[in-house]
Amino acid sequence: MITIIGAGKVGSSAAFNILGRRISDVVLVDIAENLAVGEALDMMQAAPAIEFDGKIKGTSDYSEMRGSDLVIVTAGFPRQPGMSRIDLVNKNAKITKTITREVVKHAPECKLMIVSNPVDLMTYVAYKESGFERNRVFGMGNILDTLRFRSYIAAELGVSREDIRGLVIGEHGDSMVPLVNFASVSGIPITTLLKDEQIEKIVNLTKTSGADVIKLKGSTVYAPAAVISIMADAVLTGRNRVMSVCAYLDGEYGLRDLAIGVPCVLGKKGVERIIELRLDAEAKREFEKSASVIKETKEKMDTSD
Ligand code: NAD
Repeated sequence: MITIIGAGKVGSSAAFNILGRRISDVVLVDIAENLAVGEALDMMQAAPAIEFDGKIKGTSDYSEMRGSDLVIVTAGFPRQPGMSRIDLVNKNAKITKTITREVVKHAPECKLMIVSNPVDLMTYVAYKESGFERNRVFGMGNILDTLRFRSYIAAELGVSREDIRGLVIGEHGDSMVPLVNFASVSGIPITTLLKDEQIEKIVNLTKTSGADVIKLKGSTVYAPAAVISIMADAVLTGRNRVMSVCAYLDGEYGLRDLAIGVPCVLGKKGVERIIELRLDAEAKREFEKSASVIKETKEKMDTSD
């Protein structure tokens, strides 16, 4: 069973993706009880059309997550006018801590996937607060950036999006690192198919892609919801998918006490393995810069109750 905490735009849309792919039963928890119950009811009524016969329940009662294999946290607030970035970090850190305590109480054996932003820091907060083994706490960020990277490469080449493979690592934010040398079209390096200017355009589009959507419609929904279901599928079925996951590092890439996006094997235990890439000098420098961006905010973050 999967519990999604936060039945807002991303949480409810992720739930519908999970049901549509028949990955698991879903419990939706939100402090706004009517919202959670209403979303679940709406989805239950769609269930005959999407051929889903399992359970979908909406509630404000955290104890309903009992027995969950995977708990996904999509509860958090976007930045309000006049609110600084660090104010937002502190506000969402408090929510993440509160929710993590409930998770520890009611689903102590689960894997915990964080989506709330800034996801690298919220994953760190959840890991520290939970006391879980580090493989069980991870975040969704760079897989979404990778999806966007793949989409823009496909558009530039005029080929199927399915045939594009790629990786984005680092912060899920402005300092992300799309790895050009690891991107391919069915194994053919994109560097042999595209000119430098085309690649630069794709990298820039990837970096601004989230903000581009937010500028137009206020928040991103379908893309994050779709990748949440891919990660959920990897964990529930144990398919050992390889993707960029926000993982807590303890020496990998020369970094400690930090959660950041790196390629991982995602399976039944959560992060089954962290893959250490041999990065070229430029990518290494950019990744280190990205890590220092996360570290700086981490040091300013208020983690008191
Ligand atoms: P939203 O405002 O639509 O939904 C958030 C929901 O969380 C609300 O319904 C609210 O009632 C609920 N909530 C708040 N505190 C709660 C608590 N303590 N317990 C249970 N529920 C609680 O927002 P959204 O657009 O769905 O985005 C949710 C979060 O996901 C934001 O932090 C957003 O930045 C983040 N996000 C992350 C990614 C990513 O790639 N990691 C992508 C998109 C959105």
